[in-house]
Amino acid sequence: MASDKGEMDRGPGLSTGDPTLRRRIEPWEFETFFDPRELRKEACLLYEVKWGESHKIWRNSGKNTTKHAEVNFIEKFASERRLCSSISCSIIWFMSWSPCWECCKAIREFLHQRPSVTLVIYVARLYHHMDQQNRQGLRDLVGSGVIIQIMRAPEHDHCWRNFVNYPPGKDVHWPRYPPLWMELYALELHCIILNLPPCLMISRRCQKQLTWFHLNLQNCHYQMIPPPILLATGAIQLPVSWR
Ligand SMILES: [Zn+2]
Repeated sequence: MASDKGEMDRGPGLSTGDPTLRRRIEPWEFETFFDPRELRKEACLLYEVKWGESHKIWRNSGKNTTKHAEVNFIEKFASERRLCSSISCSIIWFMSWSPCWECCKAIREFLHQRPSVTLVIYVARLYHHMDQQNRQGLRDLVGSGVIIQIMRAPEHDHCWRNFVNYPPGKDVHWPRYPPLWMELYALELHCIILNLPPCLMISRRCQKQLTWFHLNLQNCHYQMIPPPILLATGAIQLPVSWR
């Protein structure tokens, strides 16, 4: 992750006069919205916008309203920014859920109208990833040049420091989620991008229950998915030689 010098020297805890406070979310919100094991309905979008060669990064957060958070961002961006096409603009989104197919379509239109904008999306979870339209939507986004990745520890750390109203002295206390869940979603994202059948099955019976998963790997997965990604999920093991 690119670090941003402007806000790094804030010191432990946030003072009430901190101008970044109004766009920060509460620690419990971050912990639950971005937990890869949680299947909460709420969607949260944390975003960074950087213009041209400037080192200044604009940050804000958004949630679903009557419209999805992605559409809210696009409408806000379009209404606030007179975009000069000669200045490049890089946008990073950190999202609790990956975009649905309708948002994928809106994002592609947004980017098509603004060729100087690049978009990188980190997602904590894949939204209804068995749905063929959602899978195609994500593939189309990647085909349009959008980089989509699963959020991992460095992104959780980065978001905690820059988007969360963490308690004094708790700047390094970002939530440590089980890495396996991130590896499982990374595997499934590979399946989506490579146009393979889904292999990650997730189930949960009621709100308080644990989220379960199992992997349904077929020959095509073993043939097409890079071995390190399968290894990370425990789906395959390194050969052990016996002496
Ligand atoms: Zn959507």
